[in-house]
Amino acid sequence: MDFGIKNKTAIVCASSKGLGKACAGSLAMEGVNLVITARTEDTLEKTAEEIRNSTGVKVKTIVADITSSSGRNKVLSACPNPDILINNSGGPPPGDFREFSIDDWNRAINANMLTPIELIKATVDGMIKRKFGRIVNITSASVKSPIDILALSNGARSGLTGFVAGLSRKTIKHNVTINGILPGLFVTDTMRGRMREGAKMEGVTEKVYTSDRIASIPAGRAGQPDEFGKLCAYICSSHTSFISGQNFLIDGGAYPGTF
Ligand code: NAP
Repeated sequence: MDFGIKNKTAIVCASSKGLGKACAGSLAMEGVNLVITARTEDTLEKTAEEIRNSTGVKVKTIVADITSSSGRNKVLSACPNPDILINNSGGPPPGDFREFSIDDWNRAINANMLTPIELIKATVDGMIKRKFGRIVNITSASVKSPIDILALSNGARSGLTGFVAGLSRKTIKHNVTINGILPGLFVTDTMRGRMREGAKMEGVTEKVYTSDRIASIPAGRAGQPDEFGKLCAYICSSHTSFISGQNFLIDGGAYPGTF
């Protein structure tokens, strides 16, 4: 299938590694030129080179903390009129909510709710004017099925999801869609870190903790970032102008509900 987005331009936030990188790579395979971002220059440049070499698209790199307004301004100055925006950043740490301070909550809300909203605010009107826009927020399965040790993530990402539920119904008539992708367990550096932290909190080895988590996934395995990237590219395609305000769970069947 031709996704119909060749020569479009995408900002893919937090994309030197993991799920963001996979989204960037899949969009590039569809001929989308990219602006990719991360805080660490060498991994970002390595990823950019990999994508350029394998797809031939233009890839601009912006080294910036996407959760800061100066970081976002740097990205938006390099690409003020993206056709596609993929919102992503690091997730908040796990823990017992009794130990989280107001600063912890403010950091989580800033990174996982306000940062995507600010980027949407800066780009959505241009998309509406040009009659094409695809915005995808990378959130978490915890939005649909809260994870007790990830209270900061459950709360902040649900706030973003609620905001998008309203806005996405206003933009769709202009062929601008806003959707969320909710990852379950995927093999990335963040996931490995979560397994280490979870094992420590439960007083078991990382191996035991990881295999227990995997045993609870009907697919019998964790997801590969590439599977996530492919879904993201499809949601950004020209064929999805009738889909907005949806939250796509990609979790190997882990969520047990009928809907
Ligand atoms: P990852 O493999 O560790 O990659 C994170 C990427 O984000 C890196 O490129 C990192 O580069 C960049 N990044 C992090 N904080 C940033 C910031 N403030 N500004 C700019 N770039 C930043 O992580 P991942 O697993 O793909 O996770 C992506 C998102 O999905 C996270 O919010 C995570 O919580 C969520 N998630 C992941 C899973 C999973 O199983 N993997 C499940 C549910 C939710 P630098 O460090 O160099 O900035």
